[in-house]
Amino acid sequence: MHNQVNVSKDVEQLRKILDQKRKHLEAIFDAVPIGMLLVDEDLIVRRVNDTIRQMVHKDYSEIINLRVGNALGCVNSTVDEQGCGYSPACQSCPMVKAVKSAFESQQPIRRVEFRPTLRANSEEITPWLSLCVVPTEIYGQKHVVVAIDDITARKETEEKLKETTEMKSQFISTVSHELRTPLTSIKEGVAIVLDGVAGEINEKQKHFLDLANRNINRLATLINNVLDFQKLDAGKMKLNLQENDVRQVAEEIHETMTLPAKNKGLELSLELDENLPKVTFDRDRIIQVLTNLVSNAIKFTPQAGQVRLSFQQQNDELVIRVSDTGMGIPKEELPKIFERFYRVQWPGKEIKGTGLGLAIVKKIAILHGGRIEVESELDHGSTFSMFLPLIDGHPLQVLPEENDELLESHLADNKN
Ligand code: ADP
Repeated sequence: MHNQVNVSKDVEQLRKILDQKRKHLEAIFDAVPIGMLLVDEDLIVRRVNDTIRQMVHKDYSEIINLRVGNALGCVNSTVDEQGCGYSPACQSCPMVKAVKSAFESQQPIRRVEFRPTLRANSEEITPWLSLCVVPTEIYGQKHVVVAIDDITARKETEEKLKETTEMKSQFISTVSHELRTPLTSIKEGVAIVLDGVAGEINEKQKHFLDLANRNINRLATLINNVLDFQKLDAGKMKLNLQENDVRQVAEEIHETMTLPAKNKGLELSLELDENLPKVTFDRDRIIQVLTNLVSNAIKFTPQAGQVRLSFQQQNDELVIRVSDTGMGIPKEELPKIFERFYRVQWPGKEIKGTGLGLAIVKKIAILHGGRIEVESELDHGSTFSMFLPLIDGHPLQVLPEENDELLESHLADNKN
C-alpha cells in the first residue's frame, strides 16, 4: 500500500517534469523569429509556430492539417484539387523538392532560397524565403522540421547594392572616357606649342608649358588607372595571351626606365637567368605591371640608391622581382598597400600618387593565374615579387570566362 502511494507520487512527479519540459519547448518553438513547420511524410503540416502564422497572415486553423503549400497559401497549390505537390508547377518547386529529398535521404537540406507567390488576405505576396529541412522521427513516424526565414529585406538590399554598383561603375567609365578625349587634344595642343611649331617660345613660356605637360600626363595616368581598375573590378578585362620572349620584355622595361631612374640619381640594374623559357602572357599588361613596380621603386628611393630588376625561373614559376634600397614600408601597412586608394602616410613628405597602381598590379597578376608578394624593411628598402605559373614552360592559360570567376573569388576573399 505504502509502496503504491510512492510509485504514483513518482509518476505524478515525472508527469509534472515532462509537462514543464513540453511547455519550455513550446515557448522556445513559438518565440524563435523563424517560421517552423512540422511536416509528415504525406506533406501534411502537423504543427506550426507563431512566426509562420505572421509570415503568411493566417490563423492556426488555416495552416494545420493541410499540405505544406496549401498551408503557406502557395498559388500553385490550388491548381489541382489534390493541392500542393500536384500542379505542374509543383514539379519544380524548391520547397516540395527539398522536403521530399530530406525524407528520402534522411539528411538535412540547408539554405534553399526561393520566391513563391503566396495568397495572403486575398492579396498576392512574393516573399524571398530561405528553407532548412531537417528530418526527425516522432513515435516511429518520419517527419521533417521545415524552418523558413523571410529574407526579402536582405534580397532587396542585395539587389539595390548590385544596381548601385553597376550604376557607379557605368558612371565612372563614362566620365573617365569623356575626360580622356578632351585631354588628348589638350596634350596635343601643348605639345605643338612646346615644340615651337606654332611660333617661337621663350624660356618662361617653356617652363609653364612643361609644368602643364607634366600635369596632363599625371591626369592621363589617373584616368587610365581608374578605367583599368574599373574594368578589372567588374571582371571585364580580357587578356591578350601570347607567347613572349622574357629577355626581350625585360630589356625593354630596363631601357624605358633607365632614364627616369638616372634623372633621380638612381642606378637601375637588370639580372636575367640564362635560359628563360618563352612565356605566355599579355605583354602590354605585364609591361604595365613592371612599369608600375619600377616607377614606385624609383619614387620611394632617395637619391644615390639602387633599383634591381630580376627575372628567374623557380621550379614551375617565373619570378620577377623589383627591389629597391628606398624608404621601405612599415610592417603593419604591408597588407593594406594592395587595397585601392591606399597610400602610406609620411607626415612632412609629399609623394604624389593615386594609390591605384598596386591594386591594378595585384589583379593583373591574379588574372594571369599568378600572385604578388612584398617584403620590406623600413629605411632599407622593399622587394616586390610577381610569380607567374609555368606549366611545361607556359603559364596557366586563364580563359576569359575563368578570369571573371577568378577575380570574383579573389574579391570575395578580400572582403572577408
Ligand atoms: P601610388 O604609388 O600611386 O601611391 P600604389 O598603389 O602604387 O600607389 O602604392 C600604394 C602605396 O604603397 C604607396 O603610396 C606607398 O606608400 C607604398 N609603396 C609602393 N611601392 C613602394 C616602394 N617601392 N617603396 C615604399 N613604399 C611603396
